Amino acid sequence: MKILYATSEAVPFCKTGGLADVAGSLPPALAAEGAEVAVVLPLYRRVREKFGGELNFLCYDYVDLAWRHVYCGLFSIERDGVTWYFLDNEQYFDRPDLYGYMDDGERFGFFSRAIVKMLDHMKFWPDVINCNDWQTALVPIYLLDDGVRENRYRSIRTTMTIHNIEYQGRYGKETLGDLFGLDSGWAADGTIMMDGDVNLLKAAILCADAVNAVSPTYANELKMAYFAHRLESVMRRCEYKLSGVLNGIDMNRYNPETDPIITTNFTAGDMSGKDANKAALQKLMGLRVEPHVPIVGIISRLVSHKGLDLICEVLHDMMKLPLQLVVLGKGDQKYEEFFHWASQQYPGRMAVRLDYNEELSMAIYAGADLFLMPSKSEPCGLSQMIAMRYGTVPIVRETGGLRDTVQPYESWRDAGNGFTFSNYSSGDMLYVIREAVYLYKDYPDAFGRLRKRGMECDFSWARSAGEYLRIYANVTGQLWPPAEEAPAPAETAPVEAPVEEMPAETPAAEEVPVPEVPAEAPAEEEPAVAPAEEAPAAAAEESPVEAPAEAPAEEAAAKPAAKKPAKKAAAKPAAKKLRKTASAKKNSEKGTTANGK
Ligand code: ADP
Repeated sequence: MKILYATSEAVPFCKTGGLADVAGSLPPALAAEGAEVAVVLPLYRRVREKFGGELNFLCYDYVDLAWRHVYCGLFSIERDGVTWYFLDNEQYFDRPDLYGYMDDGERFGFFSRAIVKMLDHMKFWPDVINCNDWQTALVPIYLLDDGVRENRYRSIRTTMTIHNIEYQGRYGKETLGDLFGLDSGWAADGTIMMDGDVNLLKAAILCADAVNAVSPTYANELKMAYFAHRLESVMRRCEYKLSGVLNGIDMNRYNPETDPIITTNFTAGDMSGKDANKAALQKLMGLRVEPHVPIVGIISRLVSHKGLDLICEVLHDMMKLPLQLVVLGKGDQKYEEFFHWASQQYPGRMAVRLDYNEELSMAIYAGADLFLMPSKSEPCGLSQMIAMRYGTVPIVRETGGLRDTVQPYESWRDAGNGFTFSNYSSGDMLYVIREAVYLYKDYPDAFGRLRKRGMECDFSWARSAGEYLRIYANVTGQLWPPAEEAPAPAETAPVEAPVEEMPAETPAAEEVPVPEVPAEAPAEEEPAVAPAEEAPAAAAEESPVEAPAEAPAEEAAAKPAAKKPAKKAAAKPAAKKLRKTASAKKNSEKGTTANGK
């Protein structure tokens, strides 16, 4: 099975949030299960700065985005059994940050269009493309749009993973043709329109062959107005192809036994090192060094859906309990100001760092006793899993992935791995914080067992990778594990189950045209052959240019602007010609110089 994972960020290359952790860990886990996996990312400035020396320049081509005709370079690197592709366009991606620009719609419109275009130059033709959030939501749409004219795209299935439905890629309706290059039919049938705007995520949910959320509870919640940010009816309509797969964490990277960053290593069997981490954290943050006072840690983006209002409401009551509080986070000004002010009220007992600092976050995971995460909504949440791995007992609200990973402590049968509350209520939160603090102080043995149960939980990606492969098998009609590796007939029941769940319109295995590399498709093994041989006839005359074997990668990357398309496309696909109005043609000429490279 060949899987292309399309994402706008991935660890270790670039990260702003949980998506990067998932995209950095899931593809290697899929590869470890035996799938052929590639990831495609934008070549941001920070990737070029950190990994530029390791990247191989493969080739470049030109991507048509509405009237724009834009340079796109293709780089790759092999790592952890996965091929990582980077799409380069300095105008769009050579910037200090990943997101937050006026033209983000155009940047990721280009990225999605370029993914489809550059399939011709990648090492393999994917069976399935796994898209993630709005930044890659146009991929399923472009595949269908082009698929009308280009048969070879019909073999590719798509899955859409929703990491956070709040961010949907909403743009004014004028962007449909002028920015994204889609014809008005997409708006006329309502597929891409929502409340009068173009909504990329909505269209992707409707067009993808399968949709999944990052936890089973979040997948259910997305059908409710409270969580779905106006997409609840779309989610309900697509329920037949919706599932929830819990994220994992990198169990090797987050391992208190071997972690080189923390003060002292420890294990579930020998927790003596945890005390040293606690003392080090107290010293580092200017807290009183009191070994028997529990430290409550918070590591979070300071935004409202993290449930920080609850903490603001009852902070003073919390601080009446025998505890210390450590906060690490960055975000909305009102929360930053509140926590800064509050820390001054409780010197020696409360410490706050308004920063993004991975090293300090590890010191908190390792040194704290309790981890507070009272989110209003939480698609999956990684922090509570990392905390448990380091013996820090989570206190969470029962929502999304928090509900799926933290089971409430039950003293009467000594079960559970954390503390939970259900209502979005500061009183309920305070109640369980008090319960946790007094369990720590009065029943250290019971607290130790609770802590150990959390440390022993399996949050590895291997578990989730199996579920993703099942989804891919469903949409492609392929067997997983592949037929030759499948167990004896008596044990084959599990492989048949997914077939029953196949969406009605998903073709059966034999109907799926296996990409035999048609005459116009790229040669699988030789992405570096001259494009005239490998590209489709229509594109051949656009003269995508391969890297000369001797060209140093950096030099090639640094000079795209100087390269011009050898010839203007002589043979554009007929439908594209139809779409181009006289004024669009005029713009096209401008675009090549003003916006293209
Ligand atoms: P989200 O993706 O909504 O921010 P998650 O819990 O899924 O929340 O993932 C957050 C990740 O970012 C965790 O790995 C957490 O340790 C890290 N993180 C969040 N805030 C900070 C910070 N201020 N400094 C360092 N790491 C942080």
